[in-house]
Amino acid sequence: MGTNGIHHITGIAGPARRNIAFYTETLGLRLVKKTVNFDDPTTYHFYYGDGSGAPGTILTFFPWEHAAPGRAGVGSTQETAFRVPEAAIGYWTHRLLEKGIAHGTPQKRFGQTVLTFKDPDGTSLALVGVPGIEAEQAWSEGEVPAEHAIRGFFGITLLVPEAGPTGAILTDVLGFKEIAREGSLVRYASDASVGGIVDLHEAGGFLPGHLGGGSIHHIAFRTADDAAEAEMVKRLAENHKIETTEQRDRQYFRSVYFREPGGVLFEIATDIPGFAIDESEASLGTALKLPPFLEPRRREIEPILPALV
Ligand code: ZN
Repeated sequence: MGTNGIHHITGIAGPARRNIAFYTETLGLRLVKKTVNFDDPTTYHFYYGDGSGAPGTILTFFPWEHAAPGRAGVGSTQETAFRVPEAAIGYWTHRLLEKGIAHGTPQKRFGQTVLTFKDPDGTSLALVGVPGIEAEQAWSEGEVPAEHAIRGFFGITLLVPEAGPTGAILTDVLGFKEIAREGSLVRYASDASVGGIVDLHEAGGFLPGHLGGGSIHHIAFRTADDAAEAEMVKRLAENHKIETTEQRDRQYFRSVYFREPGGVLFEIATDIPGFAIDESEASLGTALKLPPFLEPRRREIEPILPALV
C-alpha cells in the first residue's frame, strides 16, 4: 500500500453521546482517540477508525451540542463512503432497517454496489461493497462481526463547479489519477487500497453549501513525513499559486491546510507519529487525552465537556 490517499475526514456533529453511539455501536468503528478541539478545548474531538487508527480509516468529529444543521452544496462534501466486503451489503441493509436508519436501496456506481444512508445529524454516508477484502483485518470488538465490518474509507464525493481545477490538485500534488467518468462524476484513484478514491461531482449550477451539523469540515490527505509534506506545499505554491497555512502540530499528525479551487477545505497530514504516541494501542480511546500545551488546564477543561455516559 502506498502513502497517498485519504488520511482522515472531519465532520461536524450534534450531541457527543449520540455521535459516539452511532459510530461505535451502529457502525462498529473503534473510538481511537478522545480529545478536545485544540482550537476550542471546551468541545470534544473524537476520532473513529480501525483497531490502530491507521491512516485511511479515520473519521473524526467536532460534536457541538447545539449545532445548527449544515447544507450540502457546491464547495462541500456530498458523501463519505466506507469499504465493506461485497457479501456484507445484505447484512448492512438489514442492520440499517432494523435500527431505523434512513437509507437508500443498494445501487450500482462505477460497477460497484453502494448502500447510502445518513447518520443522526444528516451526514451523508455510504457503504461500498468491495470484492476480495474479506480477509483484511477489521475491528470487530463491537456489535458488528468481523466478516461484515467496515474496512476503512472507500473514498469521498465532492460537489465542485467543474472537475478540472480540483482534479489538477489531486493529480499534480496529492498522488491521484483520473480513472473513470460516469454521468456527472469523475473518479480519481490513488495507489492506496484504503481511502484511495475521490469522486468529483460536477455541479456548476447548484447553490453553495454551508457548514453545520451533518457537514464535512475538511478532507485530509496522506503524506509520509515533514519532508514529503514540505515538497507538496512547494508544489502547491509553484504550480498552482496556492498558499497553505503554516504547519500545525495536531499531536497525532502534523498538518497544513488550504482551500482547493472547487471550494473544499483540504489538509495534508503526516502518517507520523500516529495515535499510539500518548496511549497504548490496547487502551486507545478510553481516556481523555490532552496535548502537552493543554494538559496544565485539565482540571478546568474536564468539567466543561458534555457528559458521555
Ligand atoms: Zn484534520
